[in-house]
This record gives sequence, structure tokens and C-alpha cells, in this order.
Amino acid sequence: LADVVPMAPEDPLFGLMAAYRKDKFEKKVDLGIGAYRDNNAKPWVLPVVKKADDILHDDPDVNHEYLPIAGLQAFTSASQKLVLGPDSPAIKENRVCSLQTISGTGAVHLGALFLRKFYNKQNNPTVFFSSPTWANHNQIFTNVNLPIKTYPYFSPTTKGLNFEGMIEAIESAPEGSIILLHACAHNPTGVDPTQDQWKKIASVIHSKNHFPFFDCAYQGFASGDLSKDAWAIRYFVEQGFELCIAQSYAKNFGLYGERAGCFHFVTSPASDASHAAERIRSQLAILQRSEISNPPAYGARIASIILNDEQLFAEWEDNLRTMSGRIIDMRKALREKLEEMGTPGTWNHITDQIGMFSFTGLSEKQVLKIREESHVYMTKNGRISMAGLNTNNVDYFAKAVDKVVRE
Ligand code: PMP
Repeated sequence: LADVVPMAPEDPLFGLMAAYRKDKFEKKVDLGIGAYRDNNAKPWVLPVVKKADDILHDDPDVNHEYLPIAGLQAFTSASQKLVLGPDSPAIKENRVCSLQTISGTGAVHLGALFLRKFYNKQNNPTVFFSSPTWANHNQIFTNVNLPIKTYPYFSPTTKGLNFEGMIEAIESAPEGSIILLHACAHNPTGVDPTQDQWKKIASVIHSKNHFPFFDCAYQGFASGDLSKDAWAIRYFVEQGFELCIAQSYAKNFGLYGERAGCFHFVTSPASDASHAAERIRSQLAILQRSEISNPPAYGARIASIILNDEQLFAEWEDNLRTMSGRIIDMRKALREKLEEMGTPGTWNHITDQIGMFSFTGLSEKQVLKIREESHVYMTKNGRISMAGLNTNNVDYFAKAVDKVVRE
């Protein structure tokens, strides 16, 4: 066997991180990985997470037993409320079943596995995701043998949404396809549909009997407002869709390495509500058991302490505003500097886009050049992680962009 296994290509993002670490240049800038950094370019433990950690540490009843297959119940039920809204009729009518997963990646995977096993099997449905999308979507759905295709999303001319292209592709997708949607703060473009555009997307998905699959990795991190960032999901649920949601707590709690996440399946009010959710839950439990047996406890306990305590929840919202606010400030500073220097091109997209990332519009050639000449690290598609910018390096970065654009 060992003789026939070919060498796999290195993960581009993790390769970029390694190259950054090796670079000895003092002013090097890391705009690669999508993880929050404070104004000193350091990882940030949210103060509210620190508090929850202390509470957990002092709890004499905490032990290291297994969690149930579906995870920590206090965590999954609080997660439902967070994403769907505390007064969601879907929750009240027992139409939601939720399992704790290995962060957002695990939730996407569990959903993919479940859909492969049960959804529209006779037609071998295709999963459509945006072009571009988070690179892992491609691999996760391919691993479970679901055919994949893309719909247009980003317009290189406006550096905004190619709405017509997106709608046309969803409209012409075979009836009953799976449509993957980023709930907010689209990765990698930072471009989201407006609420009116979401309404149109919902109506086309409905008319073609497609299945919406929401990937929600940045709730609260995008705008600082948890409800606003969940608007699209809640709208679809209100419209009576059967849908699923992959929810990650990596970014909004800064719990990247703890792998806290949740998978939710929401049944439509038209189906035999609570029984449908019960049946789906039982099947998801079987899949979960064979994949990971049961999920990891620590991150879910931290999140659960915060989500279930009014005061800590309010502090968390405050911490979220600190992160999203700093990123928004950096967007403004970068745009201002580029415009002040008269850097060729338009730069309004830097402040129009939201969330962790910005699609700068720099070409692959320019990205490689900026790395070589200025020691700035970003992915080849011109995406920058806004959190890598701070008041100490934003001018340096703007000048590096100016230089490479003029060359
Ligand atoms: N979906 C999207 C769109 C993401 O950007 C990410 C994080 N990079 C994830 C899912 C999942 O991340 P995690 O597994 O760390 O929660």
C-alpha cells in the first residue's frame, strides 16, 4: 500500500502560516488565517470566556465522563435559541433537532453525511455552493460522495455580489438540489446579500423545491449584533422551509481549538412536526456514534455557561462588539489610507464588505509580489483576514498595496 499512496498537496492556508512563521523580517504581516487578533497582533481570550473558565474550574461537580452522543443538552438547547431566536415557533413546536459537533467543520460534515444517506436519493442530488467558497466545503461534500457544483457569487468588477448570476444558477439547478448558503460574513469574499436579496433567494429556492443548508460560522462576529447576523436563517425558517444549519463557536467565542459547534435540522411546519424531528434525531445519533462516538466537553461547557447566564451573555455581546468594532475600524483605516495615497482603483469595497475577510481584488501575481517584497502574507485569491491589521501595521500594509498596484 505504502508504495501506491501519492503525495498530497499541502493545505494552502496552513502552508502559508508555516511560511510566515519562518520569515525573520521584523515588519512581516500575517493576513492569512481567519482568527481574531487584538491590536498587538496577539490571539485574544475573550474576558467572558476567562470568567466562564474560572466558574468551570471551581465547579466541584465537573468530571471527565463522556457526554451523551448528542452532546451537552444545556449547550444544544441554548444554541438553538441563539441561532433561531429565543421565541422561535420552530423550537416551541419541537421542530428542531440539534447535535453537538466538532465545531463548524464537524457540523457541515454531519449534515453532508445525513443528506447523502437520506435526501432525495433517487435523483442523486447535487450540492451547489458559491464560487468562491470556504475551500473545505468542496472536500467535505466530496468525501461523502455528493456531487458538487457552484453558483456565481462574486463580481470581480463591482467586488460585490453577482446577484443575477447567483439567482439564475439556483433557478436552473435541477429541482431538489442542495443549496449551501453562508448565513453571514461570507468566506472568503466578505460580501453578503441584502435582506431583499435574501427574500428573492428564498423564493427561488422554494419554487425549485431545493434544500437550503446554512453554514453559520460568524454569528455576532460580523456586525456585533447576534440577531442581525442570523436574519437570513430566521427568515427562511419563518417561510416554513425544511433546512439545516451548521453552527460554529470558533470565531464568536474565540474557541478555535476547542471545537465547539452544533448541527441543527429544522423540519417544516407542514410535516408531522415533533415526530419528524424525533426520527431525524435518532438517525443523526447513529451517524454521530459511528463518526466520533460523542463530542468533546470543554468548549461546549464554556459556551453553555455563557449562553445560559443573562449577565455573562450581555458581557459576551460586549466582547463581540469589541472584536467586530476593531475590524470595522481597520476597514475604515485601510480604505482611508489607500484613498489618501490615490492608489489606482476603487477601494469602497473594503468598507462595504463585512466580517473577518476582505477580497481585495489583488491578483495572484500581486499577492506573490507583495509577499516577496513586503513580507505580507495573504491567500493567493487576494483575500485578507482583516483581524491581522492593527494601528501599527495598517499604514505599512496600505503602502505595500499601493506599491504593488502601481508596478
Ligand atoms: N464554515 C466557514 C464558512 C468557515 O469560514 C469556517 C471557519 N473557517 C467554518 C465553517 C468552520 O470552522 P470551525 O470548524 O473551526 O468551526
